[in-house]
Amino acid sequence: MRIYKVGGAVRDRLLGKPVTDIDWVVVGATTEEMLAKGFRPVGADFPVFLHPKSGEEYALARTERKSGRGYGGFTFHASPEVTLEEDLIRRDLTINAMAEDDQQNLTDPYHGQRDLEARLLRHVSPAFAEDPLRVLRVARFAARYATLGFTVAPETLELMRQLSESGELEALTPERSWKEISRALMEDQPQVFVEVLRACGALKVLMPEVEALFGVPQPPAHHPEIDTGTHTLCVLQQAAIHKQPLTVRWACLLHDLGKGLTPEQEWPRHIAHEFKGLKLIKAVNERFKVPRDCQELALLVGEYHTHGHRAHELKPSTLLELLQSFDVFRRPQRFEEFIAACEMDARGRKGLEERSYPQADYLRGAATAARSVAVQPLLEQGFKGPELGEAIKRERLRALKAYKEKA
Ligand code: ATP
Ligand code: MG
Repeated sequence: MRIYKVGGAVRDRLLGKPVTDIDWVVVGATTEEMLAKGFRPVGADFPVFLHPKSGEEYALARTERKSGRGYGGFTFHASPEVTLEEDLIRRDLTINAMAEDDQQNLTDPYHGQRDLEARLLRHVSPAFAEDPLRVLRVARFAARYATLGFTVAPETLELMRQLSESGELEALTPERSWKEISRALMEDQPQVFVEVLRACGALKVLMPEVEALFGVPQPPAHHPEIDTGTHTLCVLQQAAIHKQPLTVRWACLLHDLGKGLTPEQEWPRHIAHEFKGLKLIKAVNERFKVPRDCQELALLVGEYHTHGHRAHELKPSTLLELLQSFDVFRRPQRFEEFIAACEMDARGRKGLEERSYPQADYLRGAATAARSVAVQPLLEQGFKGPELGEAIKRERLRALKAYKEKA
């Protein structure tokens, strides 16, 4: 049996990037031989094993054929006769289809190294079209390597377009899609992920609510970039520049969905877009079975981001309602993420990227003021049950009033 390093590890070493996880391919071996060497099988009918010590993935060289719709519709053929070249040809991109032996001898039948130098994301073979997830993977790699100058090869983009039009994207499971989306959002240039999906027609299939934002104008006084889609991309870019977590990035992507619903005669104003967008945010959240923390923050940011921008104008009672909506007394971190998303929204505008956002400290101060109300003295005064709740609320309002006057 011969063992090779494949995929990302080879690619990233050639790019001079740190290699985190290593994938291996094993040529000329049977399942029985792997088990005899102590490898642990990953699944019952999947020719992938975990190394007994390192835990890294070792896959038997295999060919695969599409036998139906979706990912379930694949049959794998792994046998000791399958060659390295046959295994590599079923991979997505040429830069991911290189292998390396333990002497660092490169096997590169599909010219991955040439495409690395040309900074091109190019599919290996027409079999690319057999797994629609590859559309998202290519967009994700584009987001990761845009900084290095990589773009999607025109013929690959064309294939992605055909795949998007074929209806195959609908067959992706929410879990597979979300895994790619969430990883893409955490890349250096997440806005490139959205741009590439849009360029190949996948965005209107996966997230028509985001696609609908392109071509929708906003008032130039607040939004020099005017276009709502452009604004959304800028906000996402700011979120990456400021190293925001996934929750914030997801909320940034969805915060203005309501603007896609504004009747044209109301343009460029978007009255009540915050509220109107909620059902769209909910739909996208559910479509990809998004984790709860991301779902919740996206909905809260959608509903309240304008409150964030107007923080200084909010009445103490409105401030208190805002803090309560975030359950800030038990979940201070979520309110911090809200503030971050608002700040990214404010900076995600052409020419305003470096503006200050005094609302952030003002909102933090308000949360601190409301939180400083001590419950113990109220208990000692004999309040309990609903009356205690009322008394706490009254004290918090008083504290917010004092805070607002002082600020
Ligand atoms: P990362 O740095 O994100 O881990 P990677 O290239 O190692 O990048 P993996 O998802 O770990 O990506 O997959 C390892 C290799 O398996 C890829 O480089 C590619 O050759 C192949 N591969 C993975 N998923 C697919 C797919 N859906 N279609 C085709 N090839 C794939
Ligand atoms: Mg990998």
